[in-house]
Amino acid sequence: MAPGAGPLTLGDFASMSVDSLLGVGPKKLEALRAAEIETLLDLLMHYPLRYIDRTRQAAIDELVPGDEAMVLGEVLSSQARRTRSGRTLVTVTISDGSGRLSLTFFNQPWRARQLPEGTQIVVFGKIDVYRGSRQMANPVVDLVGDKTGRIVPVYPQSEKAGLHTWDLADWVAQVLRRSAQRGIADPVPAEVLTRWDLVSRQAALHGIHGPESMPEASDARRRLVFDELLRVQLELVRRKRMLEAMESGIEHRVEGPTMSAFRARLPFALTSAQERVIGEIASDLAAPSPMHRLLQGDVGSGKTLVAVASLLMAVQGGHQGAFMAPTEVLAEQHFAGVSEILEGFVVEDRSDSLFPERELRVALLSSRVGSAQRKRILAELASGEIDIAVGTHALIQEAVEFASLGVVVVDEQHRFGVEQRAALRTKSARGATPDVLVMTATPIPRTAAMTVYGDLDVSVLDELPPGRTPIATYWARTDLDEVGVWASVREAVAAGNQAYVVCPLIEESSKLDVRSVEETYERLEADELAGLRLGLLHGRLSPAEKDQVMELFRSGRLDVLVATTVIEVGVDVPNATVMAIVDADRFGIAQLHQLRGRVGRGSAASACHLIAKALTPDAEERLAALVRTTDGFELAEVDLELRGEGTIMGERQKGRNDLRLASLRRDREWVERAREVALDLTDGDPELAKLPELAAEISVVLGEAEGEFLLKG
Ligand code: ADP
Ligand code: MG
Repeated sequence: MAPGAGPLTLGDFASMSVDSLLGVGPKKLEALRAAEIETLLDLLMHYPLRYIDRTRQAAIDELVPGDEAMVLGEVLSSQARRTRSGRTLVTVTISDGSGRLSLTFFNQPWRARQLPEGTQIVVFGKIDVYRGSRQMANPVVDLVGDKTGRIVPVYPQSEKAGLHTWDLADWVAQVLRRSAQRGIADPVPAEVLTRWDLVSRQAALHGIHGPESMPEASDARRRLVFDELLRVQLELVRRKRMLEAMESGIEHRVEGPTMSAFRARLPFALTSAQERVIGEIASDLAAPSPMHRLLQGDVGSGKTLVAVASLLMAVQGGHQGAFMAPTEVLAEQHFAGVSEILEGFVVEDRSDSLFPERELRVALLSSRVGSAQRKRILAELASGEIDIAVGTHALIQEAVEFASLGVVVVDEQHRFGVEQRAALRTKSARGATPDVLVMTATPIPRTAAMTVYGDLDVSVLDELPPGRTPIATYWARTDLDEVGVWASVREAVAAGNQAYVVCPLIEESSKLDVRSVEETYERLEADELAGLRLGLLHGRLSPAEKDQVMELFRSGRLDVLVATTVIEVGVDVPNATVMAIVDADRFGIAQLHQLRGRVGRGSAASACHLIAKALTPDAEERLAALVRTTDGFELAEVDLELRGEGTIMGERQKGRNDLRLASLRRDREWVERAREVALDLTDGDPELAKLPELAAEISVVLGEAEGEFLLKG
């Protein structure tokens, strides 16, 4: 064990290689490396997948057909043969002393090699009767070695690499045995453990790897889940507090003539969600430390208006605003949208001009802007003559100089981290950090947001503007249904409206039975939609061609736009009232929801047809959810349920993920508790100076690079 005295910390375990273990030779070492287990800490955090509770083990002679059972036995014989239909069939007979059971495996020829005579195995499955004798077809099999414990942990193993669950159990037991003398340190304050009824870390590590009972294993899991979540929350909260302490912002003038004028000229009343969110932003902007806020709002919830209000608060005090989009096309759309909202808008002129007022100026800085004009825009941004700049991330590059950048709105972009903020600091007056609002139309559930965006403040636009007819969603499951879809497209066109037909992306290499957008276009034009004016839009067209097609559609000179997901974000044609999504099962929930948001943008009733015939159970659930609700947050919950958190974490956290046991779904309440504890522990002690062991462990487990992820993505 590590040199030194006192209880062993996670850092101590991380400093020791697995090659120090008995039974780990060069081959096993290689296998462990392949499984990303290099240190004793990696090994301790390689948790069992499940447990075999031998107290619930059944004796073969007591099995009744129809039962789900777990049986432990020894392989007596195994043989492989081909069935008449050409499939391989492996039959394995096991015995547990009380009787014999045959196991049959279809199309798993490797089972014969995996299960030679004499192997000890545990099988789970349903008992049925075949030709008068009891058997299990395709059971779950665990190779357990000759374990005698009552509860046997089953580790994720790699048979190919020769890494077996009993090896892992053995090594973990060695580590725990060898740490017995010094014990395992517990850096979490005892009050916290008592308050949430959590076992010690030592007990947890023993309990997860070698429980005496199932309740012991679940107590252990609870503690380790809490630790994982607490580390992440501490890191997020710590960073948030650090930035707040480190950066100085601009105290914006949030109420004044510009804002009053803006409100007065709005053609509609703000929704109460918009009011609330603008209020939250205003109080951030008025405060001395810079805002770092995430705005989540479904498609059509009116985020643009909130963005414009935020930018205007900067302008009102004589600063500038920047509105950044992930792509040029979106930047252009935002420019059009913002220009429209602010057309002819007059602001106070703070220069020495003779006139007290002047027209507010918005400029688009994109690569399509010619070089002479670009130069002029850059000069006017530097002099402060331009109030609001719209563009891509190029806006915060070196070369773009602002007189005083006060507020930045970042649309559809999760990555806005430390470097970007640092870059911003050079853009505002006197090195103050501009306030940042990040907007996303992909809502994520609250606890997930807390984990992924815990370093940000989060606002939610959870209300759609009134007067919108909800989009009706239908699911076309049969050829006959599909006929109906094309009929409704024709009806919409006959009524003077337009339609989208969306196809999955064409992947060159994919042999999947996905209708390509070109094929669909040709077929619809020749057949179902013959006589209508169809346009084709996909990612392989040049920007000029895309523009042309979009313009034709926008101006109503095309009836139907057949497109890939290039229309996913930003396309806004209120006259389009029908969307048909071909092979809808190929899309994820979030994407379908985004796509659907392209219709229902006007006052006419709109419909979205999901065409999907042969479906996996997962796809069934996805589509059913879309038919059931148009609430993006509800859909986000379903998505999290179906896909797991990996995907959500993946948005921001690349590489290693500390959440091995914790599930953002199952452990929701623990996310909230961990956040509460993290806020408590860092209150008045943002650097965790009073809890150095806990601070040290965060960087050990999350890693230096991992610590950074939280803001970087
Ligand atoms: P998002 O960007 O969140 O998808 P938008 O900002 O594009 O939504 O708004 C969608 C539509 O709703 C726009 O046409 C906008 O003018 C309109 N809108 C926004 N806020 C309101 C409101 N309070 N009342 C009525 N219509 C609104
Ligand atoms: Mg928008």
